[in-house]
Amino acid sequence: MGKTTGFLEYERQDGFVRKEADRVGDFREFHEQLSQADRQKQAARCMNCGIPFCQAGVMIAGMASGCPLHNLVPEWNDLVYRGRMAEAYRRLTITHSFPEFTSRVCPALCEAACTCGLHDAPVATKENEKSVIEYAYANDLVHEDSPEVRTGKKVAVVGSGPSGLAAAQLLNRRGHEVTVYERSDRVGGLLRYGIPNMKLDKLLIDRRIRLMEEAGVRFITGADVGNTVSAEDLKKEYDAVILCCGASNPRDIKAPGRDAGGIRFAVNFLSEVTKRLLDSDFEDVPTDLAKGRDVIVIGGGDTGNDCVGTCIRLGAKSVTQLEMMPEPPASRLPSNPWPQWPRILKVDYGQDEAIWKFGSDPRVYQTTVKEFIKDKKGDLKEVVLVSLKPVRDEKTGRMNMVPEEGTERRVPAGLVLIAAGFLGSEQYVTDAFGVERDGRTNVKTDAGKHLTSIPGIYTAGDMHRGQSLVVWAIAEGRSVAKEVDEHLMGYTNL
Ligand SMILES: Cc1cc2nc3c(=O)[nH]c(=O)nc-3n(C[C@H](O)[C@H](O)[C@H](O)COP(=O)(O)OP(=O)(O)OC[C@H]3O[C@@H](n4cnc5c(N)ncnc54)[C@H](O)[C@@H]3O)c2cc1C
Ligand code: SF4
Repeated sequence: MGKTTGFLEYERQDGFVRKEADRVGDFREFHEQLSQADRQKQAARCMNCGIPFCQAGVMIAGMASGCPLHNLVPEWNDLVYRGRMAEAYRRLTITHSFPEFTSRVCPALCEAACTCGLHDAPVATKENEKSVIEYAYANDLVHEDSPEVRTGKKVAVVGSGPSGLAAAQLLNRRGHEVTVYERSDRVGGLLRYGIPNMKLDKLLIDRRIRLMEEAGVRFITGADVGNTVSAEDLKKEYDAVILCCGASNPRDIKAPGRDAGGIRFAVNFLSEVTKRLLDSDFEDVPTDLAKGRDVIVIGGGDTGNDCVGTCIRLGAKSVTQLEMMPEPPASRLPSNPWPQWPRILKVDYGQDEAIWKFGSDPRVYQTTVKEFIKDKKGDLKEVVLVSLKPVRDEKTGRMNMVPEEGTERRVPAGLVLIAAGFLGSEQYVTDAFGVERDGRTNVKTDAGKHLTSIPGIYTAGDMHRGQSLVVWAIAEGRSVAKEVDEHLMGYTNL
């Protein structure tokens, strides 16, 4: 429970963050850790509230409140406070597969639901989680044990994002023979080629994959299932197949001039940047992709923010981030009480860097692109922006954002990055396995289950839930592993 009076004695303190002027010069991680003594004080703020909403992971008003993995937050906060880090690590890994990833990229649903956060700053749980896992790695506590007995059952996991990795980890621990097929040249899914290196150092993925390989998980990269690898062969060769292919079908922007050169989907752009950095051991910084250009990022979410931070590092002349919806309030509205996920204005690292570099927040609300203007060579030259206003649809009652006449204006643009979300799974994979999809093109299963419409074929992660978060993908991967294990063995002890 931490220290009885800790929340009264200590203020929240976050780890040191490198200053913008320093960090925009490279792609290294910029969050550093507190000393062990300061970390113990932060854990001491956990107040034994009695009902730890932080670990509930329940849906309230359509949004998750608390940790979807049901991490035993108060228990390991207490152990961190007492300096019993090895035990804290063991507690953390009862429910968690890869704390090194979430403790860097998770929006910390636990903190949004922290009781201490009702009247004061919440406990710094995400950073406490990082201190536990990094302590464990530094002290050689993190192992993937090779199972003593193998079951003789074979499982194929298609896709090596966080959901596929979590499923592979548990099924291998249980003794099944697991092979992960990945179409990309490197393992990790969006952890690798999506989330930029400054937010999640790619060495952390390599560190974990090495352990999993040593424990017996087989990874095959450059294997595009449904294309270069036959789905039928997998069905024949394996006792179960788990589809963890993500929701990589990007939402496009339909506007005149869309075929202009210089308009890219955000994830393709971010992947290319990371791949070139990794291929060259960070020597080839791909400034040619954005340097000196006026960049328009379409989409005000996390992916858009990653594009802002990346383009600043690549030397963009200006960066503007368009968001269709109105600017959120600075603090919770009465209609959005604690412990719901707070729908409030957040300034993420990319926006901070844009404020530092260009003097203002890059986000322009209630705005979209009406037209892309090309030069004589067919390359992007300008975009026509238009403001949007909310109008209620009489039939459905839904509020739609519609263009406001007379608000059009032209702005220069040398690069447009579309970060407008994802439409769901890619059809060639679902067709190859013959699995049914729902109206949102996610793979269909019964509620709370992972078995698809085809016996022996399971699904998890974004491909199942739709575009989501790393923490949810890990939760899905752990959950599908249990279902598959039960199917293979008649019961599960995972
Ligand atoms: C730019 C960006 C930034 C993000 N930032 C955050 C963040 O900060 N915090 C957070 O919590 N979430 C973030 N997310 C969301 C998060 O990354 C995803 O929710 C999560 O990675 C989903 O995991 P997954 O395993 O379901 O799929 P993915 O991570 O998408 O992995 C799917 C894998 O399957 C492979 N694959 C697909 N089809 C095939 C096939 N036919 N054969 C073989 N392999 C195949 C793909 O190559 C990929 O490697 C971000 C997403 C994006 C796009
Ligand atoms: S995984 Fe995310 S929500 Fe869960 S305890 Fe860690 S930071 Fe909090």
